[in-house]
Amino acid sequence: MKLLIRALAFVMLLLATACNSEALTSEEAADIARWAGFTGMVSVDQDADSPNGLFVVAYIAPGIPLPIVHVAQPAGMPDAWAIIILMHELGHYVQWRDGYFSEMESVDREWQADVWGMRAACAYGVTLEDFHGLWAWMLQAYGDRESPSHGKISERMRHTLAHAGDACRPRVETPLR
Ligand SMILES: [Zn+2]
Repeated sequence: MKLLIRALAFVMLLLATACNSEALTSEEAADIARWAGFTGMVSVDQDADSPNGLFVVAYIAPGIPLPIVHVAQPAGMPDAWAIIILMHELGHYVQWRDGYFSEMESVDREWQADVWGMRAACAYGVTLEDFHGLWAWMLQAYGDRESPSHGKISERMRHTLAHAGDACRPRVETPLR
């Protein structure tokens, strides 16, 4: 019995270590965002219910806006997916920075952020397989229904691939000869 408890404790420790090593910290996400040219605030929620992202602009003092990016990364979700979501939100930051965020129709805004985000994520090292993994998860979780703000997932995928797919390299599993 004692041995069993020890074995269970060891397995739980291993699981906890695996989960910790997978989750992106707010500091790591902020470093990645800075690499992409973002100087605002970044936060990661590691215990979220479902993967999601949020871009907001808060006014810390009259006339001084602070852009904030928030990424929700549920336990066990690959870091690459969190980076894809982070880069999508940074696409919204660029729209805001360049002054046309509020002028765009919602679906146009989302799809443009997808394209900007895929280019940035792939330049950072995220692969096509990572994108297909996240998209497959989204299709399974939400279905391919029409969303008034984001459009259909399958159409988002097609649009993003058509406009930014060339920025992504497939993962090389074996050395090229
Ligand atoms: Zn968005």
